Amino acid sequence: MKVKILVANRGEIALRVIRAIQELGHTAVAVFETPDNDALHIRAADEAVWLGDGPRCDYLNIDKVMAAARKVGATAIHPGYGFLAENPKFAKACEEAGLTFIGPKSEVIEQLGNKVIARQIMAEAGIPMVPGTPNLSAGEAGVREAVTFADRVGYPVMLKATSGGGGRGIRRIENQDELIASIPLARSEAKAAFNDDRVYLEKVVLKPKHVEVQIVADNFGNVVHLGTRDCSIQRRNQKLVEIAPSMIKDQAVLDKICETAVLAARASKYTNAGTVEFLLDKDLNFYFMEINTRIQVEHTVSEMITGIDIVRTQIKLALGKKMVFSQEDIRLRGHAVEMRINAEDPLNNFMPEGGKTVSVYRSPGGYGVRLDGFVYQGYKIPEVYDSLLVKLTVAGYSWNETVDRLRRCLTNFVIAGPKTTIPFYLNLVDEPDFRSGEFDTSYLDTHPELFTYKDKNSEVDKLAALIAEIHYRQENPYAV
Ligand code: ADP
Ligand code: ADP
Ligand code: MG
Repeated sequence: MKVKILVANRGEIALRVIRAIQELGHTAVAVFETPDNDALHIRAADEAVWLGDGPRCDYLNIDKVMAAARKVGATAIHPGYGFLAENPKFAKACEEAGLTFIGPKSEVIEQLGNKVIARQIMAEAGIPMVPGTPNLSAGEAGVREAVTFADRVGYPVMLKATSGGGGRGIRRIENQDELIASIPLARSEAKAAFNDDRVYLEKVVLKPKHVEVQIVADNFGNVVHLGTRDCSIQRRNQKLVEIAPSMIKDQAVLDKICETAVLAARASKYTNAGTVEFLLDKDLNFYFMEINTRIQVEHTVSEMITGIDIVRTQIKLALGKKMVFSQEDIRLRGHAVEMRINAEDPLNNFMPEGGKTVSVYRSPGGYGVRLDGFVYQGYKIPEVYDSLLVKLTVAGYSWNETVDRLRRCLTNFVIAGPKTTIPFYLNLVDEPDFRSGEFDTSYLDTHPELFTYKDKNSEVDKLAALIAEIHYRQENPYAV
């Protein structure tokens, strides 16, 4: 049966979801707010609904999105990632309105969105995790609890917002004075960012690798994992480069991590696609960190090595279909790497470059290359959204072949206008530790030489500006 599905998102993920909807023969409905008037997802969808002036807040407005769904008669909603994707109130609103929310149940989103409750559920299921506190009590009592915990496990400790996400609301604390000073600051920041001032502490895992597992679960109790991803290369606790599968050599450890992820999914009554995140220490001990209850940015690398279309699977499972593959059907083939090409200046602390126009856009292609983007030549990047322009995902048989291909693609990629992460990645692909697959979350801090390149794009920029000027003069001969 043909279903009308509203895509409550923008940018590359809206396009990714619209493609899957259309491939399944369903109808895709886009939503947009004014700063996105020129966005491609509006044109790619079968229908589009304007939400409001924004900027940014209409994509976060549950009432407006629900009204759009009613207006067009949509019967299902895909939330993408970010915006309302992990908001249990949104999933609940869909459930109450009789719409299919393409993701887990609202109670599951609510429980897992709270890092402390998620840790409790996993502890009860016997899943290993780093020592941590419950939510700190308010006021002085909470500070005392924090100091006692840190004295017991030793510094450094991680101070985390209970409702945090996206790398925000996490502080590494080196000593007692810093801890005492940071708790009220962390609380007020968490209140402002997540409307929840609760915080708690975790012991720090030193130089860990971030290893996560993609899982998919249907409504009939079948849970399958699609292998691991390494997302250790991060800035500000946010991922930049993601790799599937994890490069660690000990297959038995990776198998154990995947089995634990399936256990975590079962323990939380998980349905649809999700990601179980772990930290892995130098001795290959692994610890549960959190579950992300949505499609992840980096799902493409798992698709490339398994052949499973995760978004297609999400839609079918949410519409009540049984999983058509079992764990035995999943074979991992080769390697895949995703690089997030952001409008950011790595040489200036990854400062966002929004507001600029993409004056030249020429993308690479060929065997093993996948692009998930939404910008085009002449597109003005709105300032109000995140800085992701396009995801370059490259697959290869061996790691070496994959990195060679990555380098070739980055060399072929021309984006002029904003500064991007491309020249930084060109440096990265030749860095010996990256080449040998040796990296942990301290990678950028321990490789300052990555930040010493000359931004060649500035020459392309000048040329592009000149060409744009000539075109303008030709089309507007009388302009002053
Ligand atoms: P978010 O919800 O923002 O993704 P996470 O809890 O997943 O937050 O942590 C994000 C990143 O922060 C991790 O990938 C890791 O680099 C770092 N991190 C989080 N907790 C710890 C910890 N206990 N020890 C060391 N690093 C950590
Ligand atoms: P269909 O192709 O019949 O519509 P699905 O869309 O439900 O099947 O499958 C979801 C994803 O899983 C697709 O990317 C499909 O190629 C893949 N897939 C389906 N069956 C298998 C299988 N037995 N082994 C591995 N992958 C499979
Ligand atoms: Mg996380």
